[in-house]
Amino acid sequence: MRKGTCFLFTACVILSAACATNPVTGKRQMSLLSEAEELAIGQQQDVEIRREMGVYDDPELQRYVTNIGLDLARTSHRPNLPWTFTVVDNAAINAFALPGGYIYLTRGILAYLDDESELAGVLGHEIGHVTARHAAQAYTRQAQANLALTVLSIFVPSTRPFAEVGAGGLGVLFLRHDRDAELEADRLGVEYGSAAGWDPSGVPRFLATLARVDALSERGVPNWLSTHPAPGARVGQAEPVAGKFASANATRINRDQYQERIDGLVFGDNPKDGVVRGNVFLHPMLRIGLEFPDGWDVTNSPDAVLAQEPGTEHYMVLQEVEQPRLRQGFGGQAPSVGAGGQGGRSIADAAVEAMRKAGYTVVDGRMERINGLEAHVGLYRGTAKGTGKVLMRAVHIAMGRQMYVVAGFAPEADFDRVDRDLQPSLKSFRQLSADEASRVRPNRIDFYVVRQGDSWQSIAARQGKGIVNAATLAIMNDREVNVQPQPGDRIKIVVDGV
Ligand SMILES: [Zn+2]
Repeated sequence: MRKGTCFLFTACVILSAACATNPVTGKRQMSLLSEAEELAIGQQQDVEIRREMGVYDDPELQRYVTNIGLDLARTSHRPNLPWTFTVVDNAAINAFALPGGYIYLTRGILAYLDDESELAGVLGHEIGHVTARHAAQAYTRQAQANLALTVLSIFVPSTRPFAEVGAGGLGVLFLRHDRDAELEADRLGVEYGSAAGWDPSGVPRFLATLARVDALSERGVPNWLSTHPAPGARVGQAEPVAGKFASANATRINRDQYQERIDGLVFGDNPKDGVVRGNVFLHPMLRIGLEFPDGWDVTNSPDAVLAQEPGTEHYMVLQEVEQPRLRQGFGGQAPSVGAGGQGGRSIADAAVEAMRKAGYTVVDGRMERINGLEAHVGLYRGTAKGTGKVLMRAVHIAMGRQMYVVAGFAPEADFDRVDRDLQPSLKSFRQLSADEASRVRPNRIDFYVVRQGDSWQSIAARQGKGIVNAATLAIMNDREVNVQPQPGDRIKIVVDGV
């Protein structure tokens, strides 16, 4: 039923496709999307992006980025779109656009920009993707490939690939623009930036920064997606364009204003969503901690923490159990186990019911105490999507009014071996003390004035406590790591939470 409906819908869209005029080139081109359709897709996907990534909580910074974005959009080929500009709470170094004029920057990219002309360059580039209808064209190709949801991601995903967002089953797929589209957006970024009064050399400068990040992550992250146009080549193309658009009316750089805005910006994981440090997951707001098996990949998503033994179908998951309606002990104490009590269920009953609902049958189960918390440890048999028949060891743990489930599963044939890794991990679930929770703080951007004898290496180690390395520190400051900063230079550094 559903498939048929989808097919008809797609077919109708293709039939109604018509030529539209490209606002940038003035040429007629085949386009599946009218402006109204672009807006509808943008609106729908915007909700998804905001829900999944979250909006970075700094209204002043949001206003600052929005004002610059609107100034640029007014000079663009589509000044009348309802443009919106949003800083999303994501550590990746990225910026992306949805059809209809929805532009996003991650807080991650802001840490790597040095001044306002670079910020204007990034925003102008994204505006260029929308005005040149690159997004609309890509949607066209996507529709033909029968994929419904697409978001266009343009920059280097760095250490935290955006693909993870899609991989989490969240229904948003990030694509890359082709080389021509990237170069056109770079050119438009220069054009819009200089028309609005910013130094157009901000475009090649931010591209140079991305090229350095790119070079660094190719060494450090082997599975990094390599199908994008290299930012290094784009620098050489954007520089002469920026030269052409240089003018006495386009000189705004505003380095101090920009740096003041990003003083204190969160860098890396945001603890309010829980942080992954190696194979350890800590959530200071929920006050929980868990250690996954050594060497497993751990991904924190809004709905669950997922871990996978690389190259296998062995998984672990940690999530909250919705509405366990546990029986409360006398005097409002923690829920108790056993028969009796009114208006609630034992942990064991709640655990087995939750697992049954998920399609699993009980093999065995017993009550245990895990790090002082009451828990039901069960072995279940069932079918996991994509993996087939599995055995699963699931621990349901009560903490106050909350109940968490931490489970590990593997194909039946592998389970005994995997279980040896799972058991200690499942039993590492614990409540964080208030003190320990308060010590999990985000790293932030701060500033430092270089003194005689300092080097990127010494500043990264001493002032930055090794949170980022010397090469990253240099890149964040628009420099090469082999060219040392000079005494008196005011540079960005990353410091641990305040
Ligand atoms: Zn782009």
